[in-house]
Amino acid sequence: MIIGIIGAGMMGQGIAQVSAAAGHRVMLSEISQERADAGKAAIGKQLDRQVARGNLTADEAQALLARIAPAGDMDGFGTADMVIEAATENVGLKQKIFSGLAGKLSPDCLLASNTSSISITMLGASTDRPDRFLGLHFFNPVPVMKLVEIIPGLATSDASRTAARAYIETLGKIAILSEDSPSFIVNRILCPMLNEAIFALGEGVGSVEDIDTGMRLGANHPMGPLTLADFVGLDTLHAIMLVMQESTGDPKYRPAPLLTKYVEAGWYGRKNGRGFYDYSGEKPVPTR
Ligand code: NAD
Repeated sequence: MIIGIIGAGMMGQGIAQVSAAAGHRVMLSEISQERADAGKAAIGKQLDRQVARGNLTADEAQALLARIAPAGDMDGFGTADMVIEAATENVGLKQKIFSGLAGKLSPDCLLASNTSSISITMLGASTDRPDRFLGLHFFNPVPVMKLVEIIPGLATSDASRTAARAYIETLGKIAILSEDSPSFIVNRILCPMLNEAIFALGEGVGSVEDIDTGMRLGANHPMGPLTLADFVGLDTLHAIMLVMQESTGDPKYRPAPLLTKYVEAGWYGRKNGRGFYDYSGEKPVPTR
């Protein structure tokens, strides 16, 4: 298959990597050629680590990378069998991307969003193909996480669901089906828990380390909630909580004030070096 990916951030890189690993050809599109090239370079670094660990040969890594074509536009998407949008979690931005794509994709091309929380039905309405549009929600880090949520919108056809499931199977991943309900299945449960950990931190219930250790050893989570929040990206978590609050009208989903402050400070977590931990040294150091 030929897969077009919009956004070469954390998720776009991961989706590009696993698609190319499955033998698909990937067009990786960003807001500029430089950012697209940087996304591909980051995939290269990730593959180098796999080669060093003996999980991949250098030739396999080279062949995989050669299947990924970075671009600063979406001009080549007319040949794609499937386009997956993984741009910043912002409704207006995503709607603009989809309306800009109208008439530019082949009639059979399946279009998907990797949104964590935005209504698929609403996004579908801004495309030229609501019946061939759906949510494909990958998890971070994409090469490691087995799950993908398939989220049909109101207008999504059964054939589109089937085609999406077939693509997910080529990646060796497991698909589950979620209703088009705010944040779908996993984030509906996970994000309020991460947000609650930040409320607890802000209220002084525990330190960063004690909250994380508490949930690792007391609830048997593989990673503490503040570590996971940094990993997801505090800007992304904040955006998800706002969407949940706005779309349900339920104040229980309001972002923790400390989360809002961190986002205002530009402390987005692991991706830019500082969140609830400082990532500038060899080991993450708690910041509170
Ligand atoms: P990110 O900030 O790492 O990357 C987003 C990228 O989109 C940036 O590189 C940005 O330059 C690019 N972009 C913005 N506008 C664009 C445009 N018009 N065309 C092309 N590229 C554009 O964010 P991310 O964590 O990769 O998240 C991307 C999407 O995936 C969001 O919808 C997010 O909710 C979702 N998601 C994130 C996670 C996670 O754990 N971070 C998990 C599942 C889903």
